[in-house]
Amino acid sequence: MPARPDPAKKARARAVVRLLAKANPDWGPTLRFSNPLELLVATILAAQAQDERVNEVTIPLFAKYRTPRDYVRAPRAALEKAVKATGFYRQKTKAIQAASQGLLDEFGGEVPGDMESLTRLHGVGRKTASIVLGNAFGVPSIAVDRHVARVAQRLGFTKSGDPERIEEDLRALLPKKDWVKATWSLVLHGRRICRPTPECPRCPVLALCPYPRKTKALPARSAAATSAGQPAGRRRGAHI
Ligand code: SF4
Repeated sequence: MPARPDPAKKARARAVVRLLAKANPDWGPTLRFSNPLELLVATILAAQAQDERVNEVTIPLFAKYRTPRDYVRAPRAALEKAVKATGFYRQKTKAIQAASQGLLDEFGGEVPGDMESLTRLHGVGRKTASIVLGNAFGVPSIAVDRHVARVAQRLGFTKSGDPERIEEDLRALLPKKDWVKATWSLVLHGRRICRPTPECPRCPVLALCPYPRKTKALPARSAAATSAGQPAGRRRGAHI
């Protein structure tokens, strides 16, 4: 169990989420979906892939495959071809068909709305489950990807590199109602500003950040984009 955070740290965490959400008003899921199964499949496809590419692939995919049974019955080669553009298509096809089989075997073909059940499905870890829960079911949850991990560490919200521990630390700092918002705000901040080399001079939470190695100047590419009125990194990148 993480130590109980002090009130000042909690207040800082809430202020950070508020400011990051304000700076990234488009926070929210970046994958297209219209039901929990679609989000589950899209999230599996999004590993190591750009959201835009996944969304291109899922338009025809979701039109053709509507139920777990459709995925299970699909010839492996046909499904591989349909998802090939997202990369790692053999593993992803296997994961989608195995998860679909699990849905049929254990959950009557429905995507379950709780963490324990979701993570029993083949290829579904806490991050994928948290995305499905938070965005398809409205269940408060925090998904930790590399962006969330990096930003949370720099902001002093966790000392851990372990996603489960980072999730616990963030849950202890933030009210449940903010968990989904916090996930997306930290993801977008990590993609756009607090990148591996952070762009601290244009960070909306600069004054609240204890990171000791803040940058003092913008990289040339970012400075040029900013002076042209186009914030660098505004495009949505690889999925969480
Ligand atoms: S000040 Fe720099 S290190 Fe801190 S959150 Fe902002 S971009 Fe990241």
